[in-house]
Amino acid sequence: MSELKILVVEDEDAIREMLAMLLKKAGLSVQCAGDAEVALRMINEQLPDLILLDWMLPGISGVELAKRLKKHEHYAHIPIILLTARGEEEDKVRGLEIGADDYVTKPFSPKELIARIHAVLRRSGKGTDQPKIIVGNLVLDLEQHRLTVSGLELDVSPTEFRLMHFFMTHIDKVYSRTQLLDQVWGRSVYIEERTVDVHIRRLRKVLAEYGLEDLVQTVRGFGYRFSLEEPKL
Ligand code: CA
Repeated sequence: MSELKILVVEDEDAIREMLAMLLKKAGLSVQCAGDAEVALRMINEQLPDLILLDWMLPGISGVELAKRLKKHEHYAHIPIILLTARGEEEDKVRGLEIGADDYVTKPFSPKELIARIHAVLRRSGKGTDQPKIIVGNLVLDLEQHRLTVSGLELDVSPTEFRLMHFFMTHIDKVYSRTQLLDQVWGRSVYIEERTVDVHIRRLRKVLAEYGLEDLVQTVRGFGYRFSLEEPKL
């Protein structure tokens, strides 16, 4: 399963960062823009699978941006969820009239937002009909954000959940610490490579409770591999 890319357009830093964290935690790939112009540049470079668009933006408003995108032959198909502090029925109608696919009012519940995103993605034919990734008896449920072994929930942190998401969708390949940092933590954050080892250790400890610690294998001098096969010595 390839990661679904969500573009978050929100001018308030705190909300934007919170949204980015929330979406990553839900196994989605996230790009952020603080205004419509930056968003347009990003969309031009790479089409997102969905845009989470704040209604009130400085300069070109979210509504205006949605209108422009929905009129554009290349962009009209990208689903848009409008995000707004306004709760009036009239605004909701207006938002949907200009072609937004859904409408979420702040403050929103994280669970509801993720569910709406999946629903819109599914409707647009991009959704994961199966928001679960299954490897052996491990099940990663992206919607519920749970990792289970034979139905028993594992106690993993959000970072370890993302790490497992990456591993379970990239089986049998070897990744260096730097590659894992890029893929799981994101390129924009500076984190020491040792951090990867710390999380891998913790992940193995959790997996060891079910005798599954060998799933995450150390490849000497290079990095890590996730595999169902016995580790090669
Ligand atoms: Ca705003």
